[in-house]
Amino acid sequence: MTYDYDLYVIGAGSGGVRLARKMAHKGMRVAIAEQDAFGGTCVNKGCVPKKLLSYASIEASRHIVAQSYGVCSESPRVAWETLRDAVNKEVQRLNGLYRQLLITHSVDIHQGHAHLTSPHHVRITQQQEQQQTTYTSKHIVIATGSFPYKPPIDGIDHAYTSDDMFTLPTLPQRIAIIGGGYIAVEFACILCGLGVDVVLIHRGPRILSAFDEALGTALSHAMRLKSIDVLCSSSVTQIKKQGKGYQLKRIHAPDTHVDAVLCATGRLPLTQDLGLEDVGVRTNDKGAILVNDMYQSAVPSIYAIGDCIDHMNLTPVAIAQAERLVSHFTQSAQQSNAIDYDAIPTAVFSTPPIATIGLSEQQAHARQKPIRTCTQRYTPLKYSLTAKSDVHTSLIKAIINSDDHNIIGLHMIGLDAPEIMQGFAVAFRMGMTLNDLHRTIGIHPTSAEEWVTLDKP
Ligand code: NDP
Repeated sequence: MTYDYDLYVIGAGSGGVRLARKMAHKGMRVAIAEQDAFGGTCVNKGCVPKKLLSYASIEASRHIVAQSYGVCSESPRVAWETLRDAVNKEVQRLNGLYRQLLITHSVDIHQGHAHLTSPHHVRITQQQEQQQTTYTSKHIVIATGSFPYKPPIDGIDHAYTSDDMFTLPTLPQRIAIIGGGYIAVEFACILCGLGVDVVLIHRGPRILSAFDEALGTALSHAMRLKSIDVLCSSSVTQIKKQGKGYQLKRIHAPDTHVDAVLCATGRLPLTQDLGLEDVGVRTNDKGAILVNDMYQSAVPSIYAIGDCIDHMNLTPVAIAQAERLVSHFTQSAQQSNAIDYDAIPTAVFSTPPIATIGLSEQQAHARQKPIRTCTQRYTPLKYSLTAKSDVHTSLIKAIINSDDHNIIGLHMIGLDAPEIMQGFAVAFRMGMTLNDLHRTIGIHPTSAEEWVTLDKP
């Protein structure tokens, strides 16, 4: 059978775009379908605009440290409309860049909703004209990403999700954030820095439950010192409109009154209405597409990468999966290795920020690893003149296999943690030991040097 394309990619996010343009560069006939903006969640409603807002919130709070150096300035005021519009302008620029990248690499772009009608057929419906066209392809890769999940709380429709946070007409004076994961803590810190009164309501005993316990504990402490109301072991049962604001009912706790609510309770794979069941692609109970080591679904011609397979939902992971598929499809002599999900560095852009790689102490215990841990707290020199120095207390923690002294987890909260940890992630992948850290000469005076003096007798 002859096909219209060698590869049809559904979804032009980070993973889909990387795969499409690399395959086209290698001479394959490639098309990509997108029903929304190019660049996916990362560019449009995630990493990029979030980090820009985070920079803004840090700038808005900088006067506190500046004053400790005798640099006197008035407490700054954030012009939300200016900030929002500047961020959205940058997002639009990146959209255009992604689209142009595909055009430059001769990838055919189909704007519309994709639906599988057979293992080799994709039907595209153009939203406005309701016009349908069906294409054939030897391989199809689904890279549709994920969407924010809202739990079944009475009145949850009143709550924003992270998708809405980049286009708010005005900033609320007081907001309740439901959740205690990446998005909840990042937006709590961003909004607090922009001058919003924040209450974070988390169902579990500590925020960032998926991270090493020391990080969640240290961040809660820092957030409370910044006047963020962190309420743990607390569940919202109802959100009720009251005047211009909202009343939140909680179990065995007083009501909370706010101007806005943000629901940050996880994301689900965006796999509905793709025709997966009809063609035999299997999914799990969350809707994630089930794939083998090479991202191949139950249907041999159909693959899936990124958030829609729910392995580890991070942009660089989707890109690494795309790269692995490129070498698979092109049978490159230099096959890229399977991704080691235990060695993926990740950061939370809270203030202070967090970065981590490898196992947490709790995960190491669960896997019955013989371990010892080294933890160090320090105040970065930059903040030594600042009165409220506790907010700036940093923490590093290493999890060490006590049999072979290999480091199996590194965790950091504090100034520049994500920038510092990227380099350590390389050493981690190379199998560094505590002795390797000790044999390394520090760069003085820095925060990063704390790692090479960690637990040094
Ligand atoms: P997370 O999985 O990080 O956190 C979800 C939070 O919601 C948890 O605290 C969880 O509680 C809570 N929760 C889940 N269900 C309910 C419920 N029914 N009622 C109340 N609370 C609930 O998801 P996020 O939404 O924060 O982020 C989604 C994903 O996006 C992340 O997992 C990450 O992959 C990615 N991301 C990455 C970022 C980065 O790299 N910096 C930034 C933002 C997002 P519990 O802990 O008890 O399960």
